[in-house]
Amino acid sequence: MPSEFDLIQRYFTKPTHHTALSVGDDAALVTVSDGMQLVVSTDMSVAGTHFFHDAVPYDIGWKALAVNVSDMAAMGAQTKWATLAIALPEIDENWLAEFSRGFFACAEQFNIDLIGGDTTKGALNISVTIMGEVPIGKALKRSSAQLGDDIWVSGTLGSAALGLAHLQGKIKLENDVAGLDHSSTGLQASIHALCRPIPRAALGLALRAIATSCIDISDGLLADLGHILKASNLGASIDLEKIPCIEMLKSNLDNAEFQTYILAGGDDYELCFTAPQSKREAINNLSKQLNISITRIASTRMDIGLQAMFNNKNLTLLKQGFDHFG
Ligand code: ADP
Ligand code: MG
Repeated sequence: MPSEFDLIQRYFTKPTHHTALSVGDDAALVTVSDGMQLVVSTDMSVAGTHFFHDAVPYDIGWKALAVNVSDMAAMGAQTKWATLAIALPEIDENWLAEFSRGFFACAEQFNIDLIGGDTTKGALNISVTIMGEVPIGKALKRSSAQLGDDIWVSGTLGSAALGLAHLQGKIKLENDVAGLDHSSTGLQASIHALCRPIPRAALGLALRAIATSCIDISDGLLADLGHILKASNLGASIDLEKIPCIEMLKSNLDNAEFQTYILAGGDDYELCFTAPQSKREAINNLSKQLNISITRIASTRMDIGLQAMFNNKNLTLLKQGFDHFG
């Protein structure tokens, strides 16, 4: 039976790129670059809450880190370091090898050093602390949206929630026939969006010079845009028809379930940000340059609060956003 230290050595120790002292001592040492602030955030992934117990371990590893990178992107930060605290019910080396592969695939893609952590026995639980850098005073906060700013979102919303509903058996998607190529139906893309989200790291960095506020959409557009508006003392009205989403959702906009996937589903990991109208051209150019769709969905107004509209009528949703205690 391998010891805790064997496991750390085997699955959680890799060469680093920007770290003075990494895994192996009582603590790690990092040097923050001149003129930069350290940006720190933690996101926990719990089996049964954030992923299915029998989820593909590669995906669990990828997503545990990716959702944290998304928080760095939302701050306009360059991600550099992560720590990983993991509780495992038992030692399953096949599981660990795949988890580690997924985790480090994400770490390599975004140039992140894993510099420490903790490994213990317990119900499967993964807590990642992520650290990055942003020039002093340049972080993208929630509280600085301005009156009359445009509100933008990257990518499409609702796919992950659609994929989750499908995996939970809550909905039966048409054409869902075993052996069928789901890419054409959007189903495969939805499951991919759920299991392998790609954080908008490059977009977050570029938005430092463009956005007045930013948030990543993890709990659904209404909840997360709601945070920006509340922190900035502003309001907005958004039309469901204007929210970017895949065709399978677009063609079911009058379905109450589908409305909640788009507006309140969560797990999107897209960026929602505000910017002055004078930045429209810059944002459209950025969209082309990064090959990411970026859609203008509304503008901020004085009336505090967030209203969702559909067919020119106020929309009341089945749920407002994802809340663990809600
Ligand atoms: P201590 O007992 O001093 O807290 P540990 O025995 O918990 O140290 O950990 C030994 C080293 O391995 C430390 O550098 C720690 O940061 C690192 N480490 C432990 N678990 C992990 C993990 N899951 N991923 C990365 N590094 C880890
Ligand atoms: Mg320890």
